[in-house]
Amino acid sequence: MIETLDIVLYPDPILRKPTAPITEFTGDLRRRAEVMIETMHRNRGLGLSANQVGWSLRLAIVSETGDPGDERVVVNPTIESLEGAVAMEEGCLSFPGLTGLITRPERIVVSYRDLDGGTVREEADGLLARCFLHEIDHLDGILFISKMTPADRIRLKRSLKELEAGYRARR
Ligand SMILES: [Zn+2]
Repeated sequence: MIETLDIVLYPDPILRKPTAPITEFTGDLRRRAEVMIETMHRNRGLGLSANQVGWSLRLAIVSETGDPGDERVVVNPTIESLEGAVAMEEGCLSFPGLTGLITRPERIVVSYRDLDGGTVREEADGLLARCFLHEIDHLDGILFISKMTPADRIRLKRSLKELEAGYRARR
């Protein structure tokens, strides 16, 4: 049985800090990826970044379907090109229950390393592109609320205040 970790919730400062690139492709990295995959599925997510489980590392899991076995382990990703723009309703495991309409590029080319250190270059669109972009933002310390419309920000103000109060109460 693989352990799972608690999801780090907004406004924990680790979520705003850009993560450190992975330099060694070891068994430890593989084990961390397994824990993240398990944690993502347990929370029914379509993606998870390492800083969302408390590790400030440039490592994320991306899954277009959320089905077990359908995951990409994404190490040190970079966006090579972006095209178009499309608005989609998004949520985030670090903001339980909150969703907002976010405009992002429609098609991307992304390159990243796999767990063995091999380079992967991939074209993505639709929900898959969305998952990559949301997780890469996390790795750069960028949260989806910063890309929300002013109307959504007003609508969600109270919920964000509740998350902030919950964070203070746990400290
Ligand atoms: Zn997220």
